[in-house]
Amino acid sequence: MQLYYKGILAVQDFLSFHLNSLILSSIEKNGYTTPTPIQTQAIPNIMQGLDLLGIAQTGTGKTAAFLLPILNKLSQTKVEVRSKGTRVLILTPTRELASQINDSISKYGRGLNLKHAVVYGGVGIHPQMSALLKGVDLLVATPGRLLDLMNQGYVKYEQLEVFVLDEADRMLDMGFIHDVKRIISRLPSKKQTLLFSATMPNDIAKLANSILKTPVKVEATPESSVVEKIEQKINYVEKVNKPQLLKSILKNKGMERVLIFTRTKHGANRIVQHLQLSSIRAAAIHGNKSQSARESALNGFRHGNIKILIATDIAARGIDVPEISHVINYDMPVDPESYIHRIGRTARAGRKGIAISFCDPSEKKLLMAIEKLIKCKVSIDTTHPYHGVAAQFSQNTAIKTTLPTNRTRHPKKR
Ligand code: AMP
Repeated sequence: MQLYYKGILAVQDFLSFHLNSLILSSIEKNGYTTPTPIQTQAIPNIMQGLDLLGIAQTGTGKTAAFLLPILNKLSQTKVEVRSKGTRVLILTPTRELASQINDSISKYGRGLNLKHAVVYGGVGIHPQMSALLKGVDLLVATPGRLLDLMNQGYVKYEQLEVFVLDEADRMLDMGFIHDVKRIISRLPSKKQTLLFSATMPNDIAKLANSILKTPVKVEATPESSVVEKIEQKINYVEKVNKPQLLKSILKNKGMERVLIFTRTKHGANRIVQHLQLSSIRAAAIHGNKSQSARESALNGFRHGNIKILIATDIAARGIDVPEISHVINYDMPVDPESYIHRIGRTARAGRKGIAISFCDPSEKKLLMAIEKLIKCKVSIDTTHPYHGVAAQFSQNTAIKTTLPTNRTRHPKKR
């Protein structure tokens, strides 16, 4: 995999970091040969014990960027962790991200004999309490459940060495920032702090200033590289024809693992039902689904039993399935940055991917905002059967005068 950072080919390999040999062999087993740009920049600085501000989103390899040096540090200085204690706290906004980070600890830390636990809401608290009672080397947590456990006296931070705040901007978006601040106020001041955020809104910049001590700033701007690897298409379509268009696309060859984005939870459910009527099996994940339903849908998708997964933006945030072949934006994202997050679910870990966006006349402005952000025009697929009348609005931006008044319900080839 060739990864560029500001035009420079990142050629440094993992050996030069002088990581524990067990960690190196885990990296090798995972098939990683070249550190990603965020890893190249972050790992040596974290190994020196410095605080770090990482501007990076999922898909850049940021999890390994912080876990590898942390695991290395823990393996160098084995400490008897007391009951309820932890040496590392990793705070992340969603359950999916938390369990993925926990899985990554198992993956990268194989053979190191480190204890780790993950705590998040929506599941029973008692097994989490039992895990904490034994004391752990690493604790991965979402804010609400962690506060709950802290308030019940199950977490002690006297032995804390490293604090990682992951996806800080998402914490803000999801309304967790006050919980995060409450947690931070109870951590010891002497520790190494690593803060990762995809964007830097004012509130996060202020928070970073207040918790990081002379941090090193590292930045991975995957947008252009990720966007370049993905074949993107716009399918102009009348809103009423979107369900039929989706079905016709899903019948195409090569639709191996398809992630479909909708704006709303109801929209996601409607698509599942609609596909079921045509005997197309699909599952949905969103905030109204129970934790176990979300996990089973995600696992089915990850293992290939479910080939079509429908998700809302927030629910999909933590999805890390390297084999996603296609992303379909059933609804155009309202926030242009979400477009990059969405399509970045495909073309993971060096693979190629295709992103198809359904754009109805009311969504044209959203498309324009996306094209402005990614600094290029997305090519228009005129070959699909529902292109027809909807195409007129694309050809003439003065659509006020040319928009069709009656909607096409039947496919029309141009
Ligand atoms: P993350 O940004 O941490 O969500 O990682 C995105 C994906 O990249 C995950 O599937 C990782 O397993 C994968 N990954 C992380 N580091 C590397 C690397 N150096 N080479 C190849 N894949 C990697």
